[in-house]
Amino acid sequence: MLIEQPPRLYRLMFPGALWRIKPESDDEKNVYLTFDDGPIPETTPWILELLDKYKIKATFFCVGDNVRKYPELYRMLIQKGHHVGNHTFNHIQGICSRTESFVENAEKAARYIHSPLFRPPHGHMRIPQTWALRKNFKIVMWDVVTRDYSKQVNAEEVFANVKKYTRNGSIIVFHDSLKAEKNMMEALPKAIEWLLREGYQFKLIDYNIERAYEKEESEKNETLGTPIPEFVVNRRNF
Ligand SMILES: [Zn+2]
Repeated sequence: MLIEQPPRLYRLMFPGALWRIKPESDDEKNVYLTFDDGPIPETTPWILELLDKYKIKATFFCVGDNVRKYPELYRMLIQKGHHVGNHTFNHIQGICSRTESFVENAEKAARYIHSPLFRPPHGHMRIPQTWALRKNFKIVMWDVVTRDYSKQVNAEEVFANVKKYTRNGSIIVFHDSLKAEKNMMEALPKAIEWLLREGYQFKLIDYNIERAYEKEESEKNETLGTPIPEFVVNRRNF
């Protein structure tokens, strides 16, 4: 439970981060599919084909080094109308890194991934890292972790996590990584079918971070949003 749906106390440790997105009207029922750790040839094209089949768009938090290795896969994500986010260059963990090197690693990834969205690997980082990165990025966490990457769970349990924890506005995490490949490939089609049957619409995480985001309790008193980095403003129409 603590992993699959991060508790409120944990969410408050990352001021300004996005976990769940409030629908714009009461009759909307939305989910936000996200994929972490790609793009790689073994899984990403397979996911893209599946998403095409259902005419669904998703947000891919890419590892910069994978984008460097497979630029054609990155281009394919963009061309198909999916959104992308920064997941550092080497998938480094914030709590194991000095703030300076963590921020540098994110900035290095930003040379390959043009997006105002950032998701820290493993969903955690030190407080000074959060403050440093939120100057230039919207930090996007999640409301549901499917645990597709875990050897402790099978595909049925991954699918069960989607059914148990998804609610209106949930940001859901799957992985286009080798570790998650088996569980993800079995659970994702079932999850999509189930979410459609439940009446959910699949939405992209908006690059226009000034709008549409639910304000977390911790930033209620703030009036300024996070600015979009200049390199993104210049490339908005890619
Ligand atoms: Zn990751």
